[in-house]
Order: sequence, then structure tokens, then C-alpha cells
Amino acid sequence: MRLAFSPKQREALQAALQRAGRREIGGQLYGEQLAPSHFLVTYLTVQHTPGTISRFIVDLTQAAKDAFTFFQCTQRKYARFNYIGEWHSHPSYAVLPSSTDRSTMRTLVTDLAFKGNFAVLLIARLDEETLTAGAWLFDPAGQEVPVQLEWPE
Ligand SMILES: [Zn+2]
Repeated sequence: MRLAFSPKQREALQAALQRAGRREIGGQLYGEQLAPSHFLVTYLTVQHTPGTISRFIVDLTQAAKDAFTFFQCTQRKYARFNYIGEWHSHPSYAVLPSSTDRSTMRTLVTDLAFKGNFAVLLIARLDEETLTAGAWLFDPAGQEVPVQLEWPE
């Protein structure tokens, strides 16, 4: 899978990382399907409550509100505009999923209430001006596949 960022969403990510400093921060990724296996992030949410220096926990109440906002704005055209996944920062660690990150994603995609075919986990960090990120796709069958990120020029 390829996952592209618009300039605006890349800026939103970088600004969130800058603000959070040494604390982990995160949110959800929503966007548009451009082609099979090609998505564009059009709405990157940033949680109001950051995590600690080693842990980020999703605020489900804010996540539900942000999801509502996205689906309202995109007129519930789910086939084209939908949830892509989760993101958080690793200011103190490499941009690789921890065992907790993996099990959280597996729990998410295998939950009976989960309606998608996959969920992406994006992990990012900012060192000075340098943004580093990695992303993986998790599916209900138990697969974990690296995602190719496409950044704007
Ligand atoms: Zn993590």
C-alpha cells in the first residue's frame, strides 16, 4: 500500500510533533482512496491530551468526535473517504512499532465492531527539522505489511 500526505497534513503532523516535544502525541488518519492500495491523508487528527515520554493512549471520546467531523465533511461517502488508521510519535525511540503497538493494532482490527479491511499504524518523530516516519498495515487476518509513505515536495 502507498500512503500519500498533502502539504497541509504534513505540516499538521510536523506542528503536532514540535508542540509535543519529548512527550508522545498522536491521533487518527482519515483520507481519500485514490486507487486500489493508494490513499491520501486528508485529515490528520491531533489528540488534545498528549501521552508521556514513553506511552500514548488514545482518547476514545475525542476520536469519536473527530470521526464524526470527518464523515460529516465528506458527506458519508465511505467508499471514497474513510478511516485509514492511527498515528503516534516516538520522540525517544526508533520509528518502529513496539510490542504494545502491535498488540493494540491487532486488537483494533480484530474487534467485532471494526468495519474496515485494514488499519495503518504510522509512527513519526521529529529531530530538529527532520521528520522520520514509518507505517505498517494491519489486517484482520493477522498480516502486518510495511506501507510506502509519499511526502509532498
Ligand atoms: Zn508506539
